[in-house]
Amino acid sequence: MQLLDGKLLSENIKSELAAEVDQMVAKGAKRPHLAAVLVGENAASQVYVQSKIRSCEQVGFKSTLIRQEADITEAELLKIVDQLNQDPDVDGFIVQLPLPKHIDEERITLAIDHRKDVDGFHPINFGRMAQGLPAFLPATPYGILEILRRYNIETAGKHCVVVGRSNIVGTPMSILLSRKGYPGDCTVTLTHSRTKDLPGEVRRADIIVAAIGIPQFIKGDWVKDGAVVIDVGINRIEDASRKSGTRLVGDVDFEAVAPKCSHITPVPGGVGLMTVAALMMNTLKACKKEIYQ
Ligand code: NDP
Repeated sequence: MQLLDGKLLSENIKSELAAEVDQMVAKGAKRPHLAAVLVGENAASQVYVQSKIRSCEQVGFKSTLIRQEADITEAELLKIVDQLNQDPDVDGFIVQLPLPKHIDEERITLAIDHRKDVDGFHPINFGRMAQGLPAFLPATPYGILEILRRYNIETAGKHCVVVGRSNIVGTPMSILLSRKGYPGDCTVTLTHSRTKDLPGEVRRADIIVAAIGIPQFIKGDWVKDGAVVIDVGINRIEDASRKSGTRLVGDVDFEAVAPKCSHITPVPGGVGLMTVAALMMNTLKACKKEIYQ
């Protein structure tokens, strides 16, 4: 079994980006600029946004963090989105989800200029991705494609089972892996909470992508020998042996699954770090106007 090391890959990607930014700046270009809007005090969101800002520093991007109280109105948040859309210095921005319940996440996502949508959540980017046109790919699936690519994992003709059908992970992942080309050309089964005989479906997979949000949900006897396992889940569970009393685990029962598979992503240290790296790649593309003029 080989660990798919998201920490190592994301560091490699950040070094490549930093070198490219140095060259751009040496030639007189502006630094890529990512802005992040963080609403409220959600602990996980704060950690994610901090890691994005830190990554910007590592690769030489300019970053701006806009913090707002949880009681900001939807109209006020839409105004901030509009200002970021209009700001010529901002190449791309994200509004960290989840948002407080009184704010319609869909309305906010739709308000983001798709040319600055480096999270790849806007329906224009989603539609273009589905049609194989240039688009900002959603950061988590984009990070997973990079894992497959950088570890030279064969995908053509493989049977991939994606567990979970969210708009930001499972569904785009299923589309991307079924597209023509590498990494892709898979035969994909997209499963969810209404799937009959989920263990049976997962057992047929050469490649498993687990994005469910239930700790250690995918069991050892659901996984065929030699499968490639991508664990997207980030779940905090109690662990009395840790000083903090908790630890992070994925959606896959790592201890039971790892001995059976050919490759697996650890949690932490797998997909999460690659999601941030993918966001950085999208921001550079936005700055270079690689997707949209
Ligand atoms: P969502 O909650 O949006 O979607 C979960 C999906 O899992 C749904 O499609 C749901 O099915 C399905 N599901 C739930 N229960 C079952 C079940 N018993 N059997 C089969 N399918 C089930 O989750 P996300 O996609 O946003 O996130 C999934 C996980 O990935 C979470 O742990 C999250 O923290 C993590 N995550 C990690 C990221 C990273 O960077 N590593 C980025 C984003 C998320 P249905 O549609 O029928 O309800």
